[in-house]
Amino acid sequence: MGCFDSEKKLIVETAHELVRKGFLMATGGNLSVRVKGQSAFAITPSNYDYMKMTSDDVCILDFDLNMLEGHLKPSVESAMHGAVYQARADVNAIVHTHQVYTSALTLIKCPIPALFDEQARFLGRSVEIIPYAPSGTGMLKNTVAKHVKNHNNAFMMQNHGALVFGHDMERAVHNVEILEKCAMAYLLAICTEKKISKIPLAVREIAFAKLRNDQKKTEKGEKVKSGE
Ligand code: 13P
Ligand code: ZN
Repeated sequence: MGCFDSEKKLIVETAHELVRKGFLMATGGNLSVRVKGQSAFAITPSNYDYMKMTSDDVCILDFDLNMLEGHLKPSVESAMHGAVYQARADVNAIVHTHQVYTSALTLIKCPIPALFDEQARFLGRSVEIIPYAPSGTGMLKNTVAKHVKNHNNAFMMQNHGALVFGHDMERAVHNVEILEKCAMAYLLAICTEKKISKIPLAVREIAFAKLRNDQKKTEKGEKVKSGE
């Protein structure tokens, strides 16, 4: 067994799951997982059919973006993923997608306030818009690195798509699903032109405190029980 086999397998299985569920389309989006105990991460190759991808195709990079293992060009967003791992010790998995309803909200630059309990519990106080920068650029990496310090676990990149984190990959995938449900419900509510209600502030803060608690546990290397 190679050093990074479990991370590579996780990337392939999750990419297939996200394609099956309709969150990854064509070759858009990318995902990565932190290599435990090392300044390194496993990430999808660039512009590559996810359903054809095997473990051998997954790239292992260090935080200086040196390729430790892999034979394909790594995702153009590798620097962005690396910057998030360095800025957020609580993040062990990152999923970037072009999922449709979330992408629609990025076009009208509409952040999602705290609408649902599960949203505040797992995504954070709100889902903010990260201002536009072209895909795969240092400008996008720097803008993202600045915004993610607010401890939220989901963001929308203007005219681009979703950026979602988890303390593990399973949580990151669940967060992708929660985000798309919130975006879809919010867009439908906006279309009615009626007043949109939010959850009470106190409830939002209690839920966010639970998320912060999970994040601090992850930073200390303690196990987090999902779903409480
Ligand atoms: P990659 O195929 O290089 O990961 O790029 C896809 C993408 O979504 C760029 O933002
Ligand atoms: Zn993208």
